[in-house]
Order: sequence, then structure tokens, then C-alpha cells
Amino acid sequence: SAATTKEAIALEDAYGAHNYHPLPVVISRGEGVHVWDPEGKRYYDFLSAYSAVNQGHCHPHIVKALTQQASQLCLSSRAFYNDKLGAYERFVTEYFGFEMMLPMNTGVEAVETAIKLARKWGHVNKGLKDNGFILGVGGNFHGRTMGAISMSTDPDCREGFGPFMPNITATNPDTGATIRYNHAEDLEAVLEAYGDRVAGFIVEPIQGEAGIKMPEPGYLKRCYELCKRHNVLFICDEVQTGVARTGTLLAIEHEQIKPDIVILGKALSGGVYPVSAVLSSREIMLTIKPGEHGSTYGGNPLACAVAVAALEVVRDEKLTERAHELGMRFREGLRKISSPLIKDVRGRGLLNAIEVNPIEGKTAWDLCLLLRDRGLLAKPTHDTIIRLAPPLTITAEQLDECVEIIVGAIDDY
Ligand code: PLP
Repeated sequence: SAATTKEAIALEDAYGAHNYHPLPVVISRGEGVHVWDPEGKRYYDFLSAYSAVNQGHCHPHIVKALTQQASQLCLSSRAFYNDKLGAYERFVTEYFGFEMMLPMNTGVEAVETAIKLARKWGHVNKGLKDNGFILGVGGNFHGRTMGAISMSTDPDCREGFGPFMPNITATNPDTGATIRYNHAEDLEAVLEAYGDRVAGFIVEPIQGEAGIKMPEPGYLKRCYELCKRHNVLFICDEVQTGVARTGTLLAIEHEQIKPDIVILGKALSGGVYPVSAVLSSREIMLTIKPGEHGSTYGGNPLACAVAVAALEVVRDEKLTERAHELGMRFREGLRKISSPLIKDVRGRGLLNAIEVNPIEGKTAWDLCLLLRDRGLLAKPTHDTIIRLAPPLTITAEQLDECVEIIVGAIDDY
């Protein structure tokens, strides 16, 4: 029988690794912008599974694609062709304006793929043997594999997990200083010294896990130009920001840059199934040869059917435009709240954050508990930042109601 909230939490606690610190709420059903707990209490979902559920929970068009394909064929492996992959590859590359793609499952697998692709490209095109660099920036979050955490500057991600992968770093090899986000001169210094040996530079256009850190105007463009000057691949991690979340299909479109490699995950499947992808040019992609990289589940027909449907929803329901317009309305609403608790309101599209001033030892966590009690689920990132990222299908009226919920929780604080 179905577990109650108390039982579900006790079971995870007893039998699951303690690698997360969830807000104490159990979700047992989802539809659109709402989720329900086992006792039937309804909540607005303002995390959207870290921006995977841009299309809303259990979107009928995506679920239909899933169930139809599930009874047809789920997995072929890449040992053989399947009749869905090629059409999906054409669809997704045309959709985002790239020549080729490589299918994986989770965000971090696509990050690893991009790292390997850049290294291979550097090997072929810059004569790098085993000494090439992949550079990241401070505050990055690219996932949890050894490759991704080797670039991390967050002690929680790293401590106890060393040694790390050589030359995958957000640190200046000469000075040991962090290559800071929003400081193009830090990247420039490393490229001046090591440009010949750098294969790729990877950056999130808006840093999600760091707390919705926005790029200064011109920063990403400057980084891109530096990469071009030193023949370094500019790699954009759009796992969290991509697929309409920030009011453009890709967040990097705000900067008018065409990255050499784009990494997608999360909302590529609308939260229905793990699907990720690396997009790039033919020239770069074909530096990886048959047998050199892959994944048993990558490019499986179920994933292909789901991803096509998820992208159709984004297009047909104009989620990009919605995110843009509703985002402005939302920030305007939040900025009207006058409370000493609020330090900052920022974001783009429907990827937003409020930063709070901790008062009397209370943190963003406490505010999230109050929001939960009032029927809105959000999760703190770090101690003082709350990310607010509802499904992009939310209506203006619902969004206004949510601003009222936030006002109420702040009053209770
Ligand atoms: N890259 C970014 C920017 C992310 O925000 C995340 C997840 O939060 C990842 C990569 C990793 O994705 P996944 O958890 O699917 O491996």
C-alpha cells in the first residue's frame, strides 16, 4: 500500500544513502504546475526538479509518446540502428541550430561527453597528447562525476573525493587562484600562459546551483572571443538553463554567441525520462570515432520519442515566450515586496532567485518550510538563496497567487 509522508521519509532514511538533504515533504503525484503529497495536500512546484519539468508534470503529450513507444520498443542498444534515433537527431539539431548531436542520459554524462569531445578535438587539432586542459570557472556546477567535480570549487562537492582528474580545473595552474566567473581577465591570464594546451572552456551561462548567478553584460562574449583567439572550444553547459527556461531556447542566445558545444539535459525530456545530449558541429563531433565513446541507454528509442514530444510541447505552447513574459511579471511582483528579509531578487525568464538576509539565525531553509506550509515548494541553495523556478506552463494568475504565498511566508518569518 502507498506510504504516508512519515513512512516514506523513514524508509528513505533507513535504506537509502544519505547523499541528499531533502525538504521534509513527500511527493506522490504531479500534474502541470502542481504536486500532491500522500495525504492529498497540493503544492505549487517552484523547483521543477531543478528545471527538468519545464513542460509541467506528466504532460499528456509527452506521457503519450512515452507509453506508445514503451509498448513498441524500449531499447535496441547502439549495437544496431533503431528507427527513432536518426529522426530525433535531425529534429533536435535543427531545433537548436547545430549540425550533429551525441545522445546520453543524464546531464553529467553529457558534460563528460563534452569534456572527452573537447579533449579529442584538441588531440587531433592542437596536437595535445595527454597534457591538454579543460578550464572551468569558480562556482560552477556540472554534476557529480570525477570529471565534473575536478573543476568544482565547492568544498562540499570535493572534500574526501580526491585525487582529482589532472588538467580539468577552474584554477590558474601558475598562481593557484580560482578562474572567477564574471572576471574574463582571469581566463585571459590562463589562456595567455597555456592557450596552446587548452582544449575547451566550459561555462554555465547563468550559474544555477551557485545561486542563480547572472553573467555581467559582455562577460560571456569576452570569454568567447578569448577562446577564439586561442583556438579553444567554447562549451556551454545549458543543462539547467536550456530549453526555454530563461526566456530563450538557450540562455546563451541572450549573448548572441554560437558556442562550439552545447550540453543539454533535464527539460530535454520534460522530466519524464533521463535524456541528455551534446550538440556541436560536424567537424568537432566527427573527431570521436566508432568505439571510442557511448552508453548502453544513450539514444534509446524511448528517450528519442520522449525528447521529441517534450520539444514539441515547448514549441507548440510557446514556452519560451511565456518564460520571458511571466519572468518579468514575477520579478516585478517580488521586487514590490518590502521586507528587510529580502536582499536581492534576480533572474531571467522563469529561472529566478531571492536572496535573503539571515535574521536571528534563521536561514533560507526556514523560509522554505514556511512556503511549504503555505503550499509552495522551493529549495534553498547555499544558506541564503531560494531558487524560484516553476514549470513554464504556469498561468499569470497562478504566478500572482504564488507571489501572495511568498509575501505571506515572509510575513510569518
Ligand atoms: N550541469 C548543470 C548546469 C546542472 O545544473 C546539472 C544538475 O543540476 C548538471 C550539469 C548535472 O545533471 P544531472 O544531475 O542530470 O547529472
